[in-house]
Amino acid sequence: MLEVVKIKKMSNRTNNILEDYRQFGLQKTAIQETIRVMNKQLVDFQLPKIKNILVKLGIIENDTDFKCINCNISWKNKASLAAHIRNCKRC
Ligand SMILES: [Zn+2]
Repeated sequence: MLEVVKIKKMSNRTNNILEDYRQFGLQKTAIQETIRVMNKQLVDFQLPKIKNILVKLGIIENDTDFKCINCNISWKNKASLAAHIRNCKRC
């Protein structure tokens, strides 16, 4: 009878550990998703009208113009440019 009680206690502890581990995984995934969404919002957080004025005045460079420095072809975004540079024949 004592062995049965011991096994039940061990089983309860194991279940508690597994539940904590499962909850940890769920919370970690939720935080990662929140960070991903917030990072996207931060990247999109711009001052486009002020930026255009500053670019036109030559005070800042237009970092949304993703041109290959080797062949001068413009790309839609940083990822497209990076993919192009890997295969740019003039690089
Ligand atoms: Zn190129």
